[in-house]
Amino acid sequence: MKYISTRGATDRKTFGEVLLMGLAPDGGLMLPEHYPQIDRATLDKWRGLAYADLAFEIMRLFATDIPEGNLRAIINRTYTAEAFGNAEITPVRTLSDGLKIQALSNGPTLAFKDMAMQFLGNAFEYVLKREGQTLNIVGATSGDTGSAAEYALRGKEGIHVFMMSPEGKMSAFQRAQMYSLQDENIHNIAVDGMFDDCQDIVKAIQNDAAFKEKYRIGTVNSINWGRVMAQVVYYFAGYFKATKSNDETVSFCVPSGNFGNVCAGHIAKQMGLPIRRLMVATNENDVLDEFFKTGSYRPRTAAHTHVTSSPSMDISKASNFERFIFDLTGRDAAEIETLWAEVGTGKGFNLAFALDKIRNEYGFVSGKSLHRDRLAVIKQVYEQDGELIDPHTADGVKVARELREAGETVVCLETALAAKFADTIREAVGDVEIPRPAKLQGLEDLPQKVQNVPNQAEAVKEIIRNVLN
Ligand SMILES: *Cc1c(COP(=O)(O)O)cnc(C)c1O
Repeated sequence: MKYISTRGATDRKTFGEVLLMGLAPDGGLMLPEHYPQIDRATLDKWRGLAYADLAFEIMRLFATDIPEGNLRAIINRTYTAEAFGNAEITPVRTLSDGLKIQALSNGPTLAFKDMAMQFLGNAFEYVLKREGQTLNIVGATSGDTGSAAEYALRGKEGIHVFMMSPEGKMSAFQRAQMYSLQDENIHNIAVDGMFDDCQDIVKAIQNDAAFKEKYRIGTVNSINWGRVMAQVVYYFAGYFKATKSNDETVSFCVPSGNFGNVCAGHIAKQMGLPIRRLMVATNENDVLDEFFKTGSYRPRTAAHTHVTSSPSMDISKASNFERFIFDLTGRDAAEIETLWAEVGTGKGFNLAFALDKIRNEYGFVSGKSLHRDRLAVIKQVYEQDGELIDPHTADGVKVARELREAGETVVCLETALAAKFADTIREAVGDVEIPRPAKLQGLEDLPQKVQNVPNQAEAVKEIIRNVLN
């Protein structure tokens, strides 16, 4: 399998090469040249496989330059009951109203990003060792992504992580989760500023070509192909758990921000998984809902992005969206160049003429959920089913209930656990005990390791130099 860029001006690459890439050199995103087609006989064989075995069958179609024995070892090391708290890895349960919930958030940081990031950590280590290389990840986080990356890369050979976070802006739980890591290769940097300031420092470091090359700087953001590929697996797993036979279809409802999660669902559908519809759920930041309703894609600026109670979806430029539009245009790289030039000017684009195809052929529909909706859903599920769901999952449940048709099996992806968002849970249901996995009891009392720096790229570069020289 070879990989191509959505902008068409990058040489074909191997999986090993795209694994370590962020954006393609031409500014595009990497995708496989074609999607492997899964026929009915193969689906029948896969039904009933354990998660790691299913992951192996799917990933071997994409990661063809990793010998199968090595790929299997990486996967077996990743998807363990120990790391994901459950032998099924992504169990599916049913609420009293018939809606199904697929748990993706039982990994080390209690959010679905672990599903891909844990794989990426092990795959990075393998590829770097094979190539005799090292890699230094520089990133910025407002919470979920940074902790998922740190838990995936802690203790890995040949890798350092320098993760910036805005000083005093994360919850006590989120701070404790990251800063309590004592591994020598994990470097927490608290910046005297906001999340956007941290992002700007990452960009400044990325734009310093000499520094970037000398210190082998990389990223692990959500456009990484390895992350999308690892996410394809749980759509297959969820389908098998939610159905009795491969004659049935399933719709997935996906709480969305960067379009990374639901992009993997799109790819699973293109591979032949019997997915009826892909329901994109947004919060107040409704760029994607607007697109799927009207065909108009109008990314907002940071200043027009709302701060909400489902913060991991507070995104106004969906970085993975380009992958879907590439497929929608029949993989027309010139068209993508034109459309994203319009995005670059802040204007956006309109594809209303393609809405029929988007809905009927690709199966996309959408809805949005506001603060009062997610509070109401959390309360209602708590009262009716006796369980606490997190605010992002609640956005999904709200939209799934709204869009569901008679007889349609809908699986809503659970993207985080309630324990991570205690304040919003209490706002919804009052002062209840919020269950927390045993391994995270007392997290806030552990010693913390973090360096405070002024809001200057040079201060962060100095830390990197000191560690690596
Ligand atoms: C990242 C995240 C999302 C959004 O996922 P995308 O891939 O960016 O669409 C939703 N919920 C939670 C809890 C997340 O951490």
